[in-house]
Amino acid sequence: MKRKLICIACPVGCHLTAEAVEGGNIEVEGNRCPRGKAYAVNELTDPKRMVTGVVRCDSPAVPFLPVRTSEAITMKLIAPLLAELRKVEIHCPVAAGDVLIRDFRKSGVDVVASRAVGK
Ligand code: SF4
Repeated sequence: MKRKLICIACPVGCHLTAEAVEGGNIEVEGNRCPRGKAYAVNELTDPKRMVTGVVRCDSPAVPFLPVRTSEAITMKLIAPLLAELRKVEIHCPVAAGDVLIRDFRKSGVDVVASRAVGK
């Protein structure tokens, strides 16, 4: 089955058509450069997304600290990651970019603080 995608690897936004074919290969059309093919193959085989959320924080001024993944994480791990975020409580102070969860389930992706919070 052909899938239509818009490449997000650069601002051009090429309209791609991708299809899994015999032999486990994926044919991609519409890409102007190799990054588009890599993007489409990734979308069909192991799509990844950035995740943002909040965790509880012991600061009276900021009871919920915004957090984000350090990079896009496989969509298979998004639900477990959101479940984990619900269990976390951070003790302030925290600096923007501090790693709060390292290498979530050996994905190579960390969860970091999106902002600083004092005591
Ligand atoms: S295929 Fe290449 S040129 Fe087209 S949007 Fe993707 S990165 Fe940009």
